[in-house]
Amino acid sequence: MAKDKKINEQKNEKSKLEKELFYEQKSAWDELHEEKKQADKLSKEYREFLDNYKTEREIVEYAQKIAKKNGFVDIKDATPSTKKIYATNHSKNIVLIELTNSPLEEGMRIIGTHIDSLRLDLKMSPVYETNPFLMINLHYYGGIKKYHWLNTPLAMHGVVFNNKGEKIEITIGEKEDEPVFVISDLLPHLEGSEGREKLARDIIKGEELDAIGATIPIEDKKIKERIKATFLKIMNDKYKITERDFASAELSLYPAVKSREVGIDRGMIGAPAHDDRICSYLGLEALLKSDSKKAKLLLWVDKEEIGSKGNTSMESTFLENTIEKIIALRKEKTTAKEVLQNSKAISGDVTSGFDPKFADKMDPTNMNKPGYGVAVEKYTGAGGKSYGSDANAEYISWIRMMLQDAKIPWQHGELGKVDQGGGGTIAYILAKYNMNIVDMGTPVLAMHSPFEIVSKIDLYATYKAYKAFYERK
Ligand code: MN
Ligand code: MN
Repeated sequence: MAKDKKINEQKNEKSKLEKELFYEQKSAWDELHEEKKQADKLSKEYREFLDNYKTEREIVEYAQKIAKKNGFVDIKDATPSTKKIYATNHSKNIVLIELTNSPLEEGMRIIGTHIDSLRLDLKMSPVYETNPFLMINLHYYGGIKKYHWLNTPLAMHGVVFNNKGEKIEITIGEKEDEPVFVISDLLPHLEGSEGREKLARDIIKGEELDAIGATIPIEDKKIKERIKATFLKIMNDKYKITERDFASAELSLYPAVKSREVGIDRGMIGAPAHDDRICSYLGLEALLKSDSKKAKLLLWVDKEEIGSKGNTSMESTFLENTIEKIIALRKEKTTAKEVLQNSKAISGDVTSGFDPKFADKMDPTNMNKPGYGVAVEKYTGAGGKSYGSDANAEYISWIRMMLQDAKIPWQHGELGKVDQGGGGTIAYILAKYNMNIVDMGTPVLAMHSPFEIVSKIDLYATYKAYKAFYERK
């Protein structure tokens, strides 16, 4: 007995030291077990958003609707005393700002996320007939594993401007009774040994990623390309457009896949494009629900997935111009650059979640696990931190205390092993303004596939983190 007691004491002593010194990752499900209901409720609301808003234009429209409902005013109608302002940029980029009575020079709390996502864009000449099909000619958008997109039902979304310059909105394939499009793969029977040995990148080439658009020849046998005629006739009957109109259009094929709960315990959500609709949605929820003494800003940008180039991307001067307008409106003596420099920011974007099947791609002591809370990444990038903005330790410390005080489960990791690959976010572009910024978001499995997966509790932890960020003194 006495001996046993001594061993136990030794054990306790050791665990006490461990407790004191070791960092132990804890399941966010345990940490937030009293808030499971809230996590479930938020997940449900998020899924509504996921299933209904896919293109940047649709998402910006959603934000505008929500903003107006919550008392935000279009910057065009704002007065010097307006506190809640929003501004849009080319219908694909939006900023929401909630001001206080304090001078803008004190800076703001900024969350920046991206609303563009992986998809297949129609080319300017998107239709050609190749017997026995009318094919839709596509150019993929962003970094995809091309074979992921085979045999997946695809819905068409976007806008077309006709020869009179009128805008026509198109959505085909989201409703149960609407047709979808598909890129069919080769059957395994005909793969052959050469096919089985193909590298993943050769399974289907970028130029081969074209979808079946129609199959029934039009009745008029004098027409040479009768299936193409069928396709164009249906589009013309429905939308009054002709072949040339596709040149002045933004049409894309998105997975026609609704979000679903994953696992028998319903702990996760599977859907296309959590990246980065999840952080965008949670940023907006946090902005609306937070009670803050600080000026708050939420920015949703486009084109992150193709390197943040273009007039609706993070590299656009839209944010700076909008802040300049507000400074002029309030007749304050500062500049947008000054305001941004004095701000604190979060680049809200997803990161890779640990997947035991691919454990060798990750560093076991520096990775983010689904179900373990919001992920904080000091830097992103690839090959020696290239294109990562590498946040200051001082700022990480500030973020850490914020999370600690608000009792939010958080983890820190890297996207993958050193030199395994990598990825970037908008953080380094906002960092140009000399503000403090760090990447913080939700871990995702199967990122950039047509069915990405997130944990409900990580979604909830991310929301709580964004809210705490806006509210922190
Ligand atoms: Mn992203
Ligand atoms: Mn991405």
